[in-house]
Amino acid sequence: MLTRTWDMRQTQSEEKWENARPNLLESMLSAEWTLDQSCDHCHTKRAVIRCRDCLPKHLFCSDCDLSLHQNYVLHNRDSVVEGFYKALPPACCIVQDGSGAHEICEKACLLPIASPLNLCNCDTQDIAINAGRAIILVEINGRYDLSLPLVTCKSCLKTWTPGLKDLQSNGY
Ligand SMILES: [Zn+2]
Ligand SMILES: [Zn+2]
Ligand SMILES: [Zn+2]
Repeated sequence: MLTRTWDMRQTQSEEKWENARPNLLESMLSAEWTLDQSCDHCHTKRAVIRCRDCLPKHLFCSDCDLSLHQNYVLHNRDSVVEGFYKALPPACCIVQDGSGAHEICEKACLLPIASPLNLCNCDTQDIAINAGRAIILVEINGRYDLSLPLVTCKSCLKTWTPGLKDLQSNGY
């Protein structure tokens, strides 16, 4: 076999590739195939979202997605409702309409940032956190359209929103 020529080796390598290709293609396609699966978190409702940053529990129903991703807005989520994976921006979520069909909706998406522990001396139940000024966050994974949190005390109406110093101390 030492006398094998370059051409022969080349032909053999091409043949091996020809034989392996259908299997490789098959496994790549089946990895992208969205099955009807249940949510990895409540185990009851149908999964409508896959999150690649939440492995191994990466499948979410719409309710679990909303509650668990509220504080992880920069996670890399895909919709699975159309039978294939489709990237979802952080400000999009999936809800079910009256007929049971799934649709993509917009939601307020707040920049994750530490808010002050003591805004005022009122009861902490009076504190509301809403979407404030819109901002664009650009980081290594791309661009995110987010809002700055606007913290308001419903009792004394004192408000807080992060300034440049807060953004810097949170690592932005
Ligand atoms: Zn769930
Ligand atoms: Zn996630
Ligand atoms: Zn107050």
